[in-house]
Amino acid sequence: MTMSALGEPCVLLKLGEIVLKGKNRELFERRLIGNIREALKPLGTKVEVRRRHGVIAIFLPQGAGAEQAAAVAERVADVPGLVWIHRAWRVAKDPETVLKAGLELVGESEEAKRGARFAVRSRRRDKRFPLRSNELDRLVGGAINDEYNLPVDLRNPELTVFIEVDRDEVFVFTDGIPGQGGLPVGSSGRALVLMSGGIDSPVAAYRMMRRGLHVDFLHFSGIPFTTSESIYKAYALVRKLDRFQGGSRLWVVPFGKAQQSIRTSGQDRLAVIAQRRLMLKTAEEVAHRIRAAALITGDALGQVSSQTLTNITAQDNAVELPILRPLVGWDKTEIMAEARRLGTLEISELPDEDCCSLLAPKRAETRARIDDLKQIEKRLDAEELCVQLADSIQEYTL
Ligand code: ATP
Ligand code: MG
Repeated sequence: MTMSALGEPCVLLKLGEIVLKGKNRELFERRLIGNIREALKPLGTKVEVRRRHGVIAIFLPQGAGAEQAAAVAERVADVPGLVWIHRAWRVAKDPETVLKAGLELVGESEEAKRGARFAVRSRRRDKRFPLRSNELDRLVGGAINDEYNLPVDLRNPELTVFIEVDRDEVFVFTDGIPGQGGLPVGSSGRALVLMSGGIDSPVAAYRMMRRGLHVDFLHFSGIPFTTSESIYKAYALVRKLDRFQGGSRLWVVPFGKAQQSIRTSGQDRLAVIAQRRLMLKTAEEVAHRIRAAALITGDALGQVSSQTLTNITAQDNAVELPILRPLVGWDKTEIMAEARRLGTLEISELPDEDCCSLLAPKRAETRARIDDLKQIEKRLDAEELCVQLADSIQEYTL
């Protein structure tokens, strides 16, 4: 067996927006590392997660193979806060070893077999290293050119050998997968997502997790007047999204009877918006109980009649907590593309009996007056009703 110059397999992570943080940066990085460790636990591979200068390195146990590194890389690609994930090799910190490692990586690559145009890109995070980055580029690039007779193309290479000189070691790699970007989950606090079985709310949840919120999910079911299908859908959606944050909880409110009282209490055209306000009031009550500091919905401006500017104003007026609407400026096609990428679209498109279908007036009000809505709520005793509804929630833990 020939000795490999490649040293140990590891995974190198590039941070996203965190690098723009000043004094708080360390706090964000610590949280990110905690999230990474948590995400990797179920894999059962004993890894070491280390902060390096501006990057995070995951070291695998002695003897770990490329498959284990690939599994780790794939898992952390779902952890918000990272922009690139590289399966890399950790090699000794001298130019000779780096050169050999570079040659070996290229020798193993599919691109080299096709005679691909290549480039070497070096970077010195430790300036004490004897070669400057352009010297290292030329040394390794020249050797690759001699050995494999591949053409150099610095502008538009098909194969790039990255060399990153760090404090204790050098990382050498050729491939990478994009991360989720955004901020580490938890760094912005906690919020509660109003989660229907539809297409929009799961995407909204994801966008806010990516901005650092750890979210709980709240679903209103039409039970006892509908089947449990919408709950199964909500549950399946939460399961699909859990890979981005971990520890997800779904709360379900049996909402059918409250909807029935709305229907019998007011003007037909206001029913949808009155119901939305009751959902929000109930969500606010639940949010206080679980210490969530904001509500999240999948509203997009003008998408349906409940989402006109007037009706959004009427919704904001129902609660004191901020309502975050990350999709407010998105087109339906954009939302659907994102849902497809996340894997939620096929679940959302399953048929169900949404609780909203119980209340579908022929013509919904697009300019609901808040005074009229308050009248309905007075008759319903909405303040008391939302406490009762919050009392009746059921928790589904993953
Ligand atoms: P979605 O695709 O998310 O269901 P939608 O386009 O169907 O949205 P609406 O039905 O008007 O739009 O709902 C707007 C928002 O209200 C949803 O994105 C969601 O946040 C919340 N919502 C609606 N119905 C429910 C429900 N049954 N349970 C929880 N939240 C709901
Ligand atoms: Mg809906």
